[in-house]
Amino acid sequence: MRRKFVAGNWKMNGSLAALAELDAIGAAVTDTVDVAVAVPATLIYPASQRARFPIGAEDVHANDCGAHTGCVSADMIKEAGAAFSIVGHSERRQAQGETDADVKGKAEALRRAGLHAILCVGETLEQREAGEAEAVVTAQIRASLPEGAAGDWLSIAYEPIWAIGTGKVATVEDVEAMHAAIREALGENGETIRLLYGGSVTAENAAGLLHAANVDGALVGGASLTAAKFIPIIEAAR
Ligand code: 13P
Repeated sequence: MRRKFVAGNWKMNGSLAALAELDAIGAAVTDTVDVAVAVPATLIYPASQRARFPIGAEDVHANDCGAHTGCVSADMIKEAGAAFSIVGHSERRQAQGETDADVKGKAEALRRAGLHAILCVGETLEQREAGEAEAVVTAQIRASLPEGAAGDWLSIAYEPIWAIGTGKVATVEDVEAMHAAIREALGENGETIRLLYGGSVTAENAAGLLHAANVDGALVGGASLTAAKFIPIIEAAR
């Protein structure tokens, strides 16, 4: 039985003052849905001190330490209070040129540190229109999924790039088809791994998406920034 998992991704948003949102979000958390929020690195420590649910990072380096100016390691985010990190978000794959091999290395670093990984995959609009979406996403899974991936330390987020921050949400049918393809590509242990959908999830569309076949939760960007928008999504997962 895979428990529903609703995770927020604040991206490069937030401040110490904005952490007040975590108090209201925490008040809405029950033991029927797992809730977590990924925040900018500078906010991990204060957020984790304050939140009644897991706080995570949005990225992590694949190496444990060394000459990597500007980067943070899995042990560093753990010491700051993170319980997990997102890896392979499309904004990093596109803007920072991260490859599937890079993403795999980052997920493995999280496992070494005893942290959870939310590994993101997703196709561009051009790839979907060319009928290549499932081939692209399952290839990303095969190339970025670490050996021994299992639900106790890893989740997958399917985030079609054209649906991120655009207000264009994938249809329930498209999400079910993609999640079925991902589940098959996961192979051994695949049944234990939670598959989250991400891309313009809102209070209005959450219930349909969260109860679709093979959808175990959501990765929420814009609507996770305020408790007023995030709480209805958590409630829709129940
Ligand atoms: P939005 O919910 O703002 O579309 O962002 C989705 C996302 O990228 C979450 O990681």
